[in-house]
Amino acid sequence: MTIDSQADPTASGRVLEARMVIGGKSVDALDGGRFDVVDPAHGRVIATAPLGSPADVDAAVAAARATYEGPWRTFSATHRGRLLAAFAQVVRDHAEELAWLETRNVGKPIASSRGEAQGVANTFEFYGGAANKLHGETIPVTKPGLDFTLREPIGVVGLIVPWNFPMVMAAWKLGPALAAGNTCVLKPASWSPLTAIRLGELALEAGFPEGVVNVVTGPGGSVGAALARHRGVGKVAFTGETTTGQEIMRLASENVKKVSLELGGKSPNIVFADADIDRFCAESPYAVFDQTGQDCCARSRIIVERSVHERVVEGFVAATRKVIVGDPADPATEVGPMVSQRQRERVLDYIEIGRNEGAQLMCGGGAPDDAALADGAYVSLTVFDHVDTRMRISQEEIFGPVVAVIPFDTEEEALRIANDSPYGLSGSIWSRDLGKALRVAKGLESGVISVNTNSSVHTEAPFGGYKLSGIGRELGMHALELYTEVKNVFVDLRS
Ligand code: NDP
Repeated sequence: MTIDSQADPTASGRVLEARMVIGGKSVDALDGGRFDVVDPAHGRVIATAPLGSPADVDAAVAAARATYEGPWRTFSATHRGRLLAAFAQVVRDHAEELAWLETRNVGKPIASSRGEAQGVANTFEFYGGAANKLHGETIPVTKPGLDFTLREPIGVVGLIVPWNFPMVMAAWKLGPALAAGNTCVLKPASWSPLTAIRLGELALEAGFPEGVVNVVTGPGGSVGAALARHRGVGKVAFTGETTTGQEIMRLASENVKKVSLELGGKSPNIVFADADIDRFCAESPYAVFDQTGQDCCARSRIIVERSVHERVVEGFVAATRKVIVGDPADPATEVGPMVSQRQRERVLDYIEIGRNEGAQLMCGGGAPDDAALADGAYVSLTVFDHVDTRMRISQEEIFGPVVAVIPFDTEEEALRIANDSPYGLSGSIWSRDLGKALRVAKGLESGVISVNTNSSVHTEAPFGGYKLSGIGRELGMHALELYTEVKNVFVDLRS
């Protein structure tokens, strides 16, 4: 992509021509097809990208394989770490441009996109430091001799990412995959290819050899599936919908690839009567409405002790009304549009389902009144009260700005409701009684939990889900395990 400005690269109606990155070259799809990339806030085409096919995946895997078996294998862990540190710096140098690309492509508020660009740099920096701290162990086996393990890269890895955090999800996978010594084929979602392509270009600028980071674009059902089933790929890492993850497991079984999956969520926000209710109400709208609710960690179920139920709903709704919904390009905007009109329709259907199920609508429930937002895929921030845990709006991931409030009477009931979900990704517990909070934290069937805050994602700490929310842990040192083979070596020391 030719980007000549640190500001909005799509300004003045410019339509970018994005290309895949294969073997260090910017290339079109082999059959020349392209697709449109749309700004969901205004419904405008801002770019076109190559409509790849399985043949392009073959080319990318071949390039990744050649580099893996060639120069890349000789790079020491320290050298790989330095390249990741350089990548972090290049991302920082291009942070404004990446932020604008993301904002225009998926409607994310520019303030969020700026933060996410820094988050991408932080991730590369963390894995730059981690690269030469990944090591094997010596094991006291019974037979006389020396037994030790080696941590080796898998080879070529396929990285398939969604549209809600396009560059962040790419970084969560590229960072540990590169630190561990793999070469990568990254496939972004078709709604959000721009920052992934740009990261592929910037990896070259940071000094990674050609073929280490390849980016292919095109439909998930053909390009993504070809990558997931490819016999030249040793592992596939995926973030996206649970049903797609299940399909990827099936496809990956063809050559028994390693698979890691970050899937959906329906996370509980449990608030006890002894919590700091004012702080809960002020902070928690952002825990579900940030990213317009398109966040696998969204605390989309508020499970509240009955004695403070009314006070919590009143305070939460009042705080929700203060959240600034608007044009993502405005630095004051806190919540933008949905990623597409299709997602918007899906969420509006769920709001209708909630109404029909008998939940009580407290605010939102449709499109915002503001005429300035009429062309965009906006949904107003919606709170349903008196939700029953059997209702679909309590069980299914809506992936939009909708929260369900469910009252409880006892600690045991709170835990039962929280765990009454096919998902188990995230969750928060609010209580001044730390013993109680920790009992509930231990009982929750979720991979990522926070107490007296909704902040539970940290670059340095593991992230991932129980149950239908996935397999494996990203981030922290745990993620390196997803991208390495363990080889055990026994040496007979008899003379
Ligand atoms: P999808 O599962 O539809 O798509 C994710 C990626 O998979 C896209 O790149 C898509 O390509 C690709 N894909 C689609 N079908 C296939 C296939 N058959 N084989 C291989 N790849 C395929 O998810 P969404 O993009 O709709 O993302 C939203 C979902 O992701 C939500 O359910 C959300 O909870 C989940 N998510 C989970 C996170 C977590 O960490 N647990 C984080 C973020 C999101 P294309 O776009 O071309 O169809």
